[in-house]
Amino acid sequence: MQALAISASAISVSIGKAPILHGVTAGFRKGRWTSIVGPNGAGKSTLLKVLAGILPCTGSVNLLGEPLPEWSRRERAQTLGWLGQNEIAAEDLGAYDIVMLGRIPHQSWLAPPSAADHAAVERALRATQSWKYRSRSLGTLSGGERQRVLLARALASEAQVLLMDEPLANLDPPHQADWLAIVRVLAAKGTTVVSVLHEISMALNADDMVIMAGGRVTYEGLCVDAATHRALEAVFDHRVAVRSVADQWIALPQ
Ligand code: ADP
Ligand code: MG
Repeated sequence: MQALAISASAISVSIGKAPILHGVTAGFRKGRWTSIVGPNGAGKSTLLKVLAGILPCTGSVNLLGEPLPEWSRRERAQTLGWLGQNEIAAEDLGAYDIVMLGRIPHQSWLAPPSAADHAAVERALRATQSWKYRSRSLGTLSGGERQRVLLARALASEAQVLLMDEPLANLDPPHQADWLAIVRVLAAKGTTVVSVLHEISMALNADDMVIMAGGRVTYEGLCVDAATHRALEAVFDHRVAVRSVADQWIALPQ
């Protein structure tokens, strides 16, 4: 069993008077890709924000063996990459500069970007097939093009732990396949990837799965395990069925 890269213990979140997460405990293993899945409103985005340290909560988050609050802001930003759901970004900024924002945790104050920063930005833009948009402002891109630039920003951070909330939003099937390939390479190189996905068939490609409903984790298991598939079918009230097609697990609507 690999060590945990990031974990949440007894996390509760309330917004106003409404309880959103009820004592969630979940661990994400180093160098593996974990999908978080569950119905709309299950608390997936809320849990991801807690892991990223951007939402107040009770309970604790541990990153690479240290409680999250004990990390310096800079080291935490170098270690923990983030791609949010429906992210608002500077629409007037060019795609290249947006992706360079992912390098801020690696730069010294007021120093110009280094050759390594430029190289990381170019690698990330090319990996997401968005090098051609480098001079376009974000606001002029289509939903899928924009999403790829924001993904490139997260990749450029070269963080050891990457948290992504619905990264496939607006991506067409070829670019979803590219995303899958990128994540597999990252995990093979030791990066820990945690992604919230509503594309269940894509989510089943991960190593591990965390299933949530009603502000709780209802199941954690391997994506290839039959018990995980049954838990997945149950959380969606048997409106999906997990089947093997051409050596792939896919979720069929019922
Ligand atoms: P998911 O990502 O699984 O769809 P979320 O974590 O976004 O779910 O939300 C979980 C629940 O918390 C939902 O019922 C949502 O309506 C509620 N919620 C999230 N943010 C707020 C907020 N700012 N104010 C009130 N309710 C919220
Ligand atoms: Mg969400």
